Amino acid sequence: MKCPSCGATAPEGAPECAACGVIFAKFEEKRRREREEAQAALARLNLPPTPELDPHLGRRVAIVVGAAWAAVMGFFIVKELIRKNQREAAARARFAAPVAAAPMPAPVAPAGPSAAPALPAHAVIADPSGQFTTPSGETVSDHRP
Ligand SMILES: [Zn+2]
Repeated sequence: MKCPSCGATAPEGAPECAACGVIFAKFEEKRRREREEAQAALARLNLPPTPELDPHLGRRVAIVVGAAWAAVMGFFIVKELIRKNQREAAARARFAAPVAAAPMPAPVAPAGPSAAPALPAHAVIADPSGQFTTPSGETVSDHRP
């Protein structure tokens, strides 16, 4: 095998290099640790991803903007609905108050055969004493001479 440190040829299965004295197991362990640290550092540099490197940024921005727009529009729609309801409630209150305060109209007698016919203008009203009262207020006796 070849020594990873100095490149000298070492016998297969030897624990250390005869030329430079490096212990192969320790050397491999050190290289493995360095490789892991380098990968971790690389991962730290990439996280969080920068906008230029994020292929989904455009879609994310669109979603965020769309959601914000929907939220704003929803807010205005709800606000307008609440204002409309309040206007209608106020209008109802304005109309309902006088109606509630006004007296009920007198019931109208049903017109029909049983209803008393309206008296003509020239009619006289009979008095139990036997006298008639004309519409002009004149009192005429029913007693014939
Ligand atoms: Zn060596």
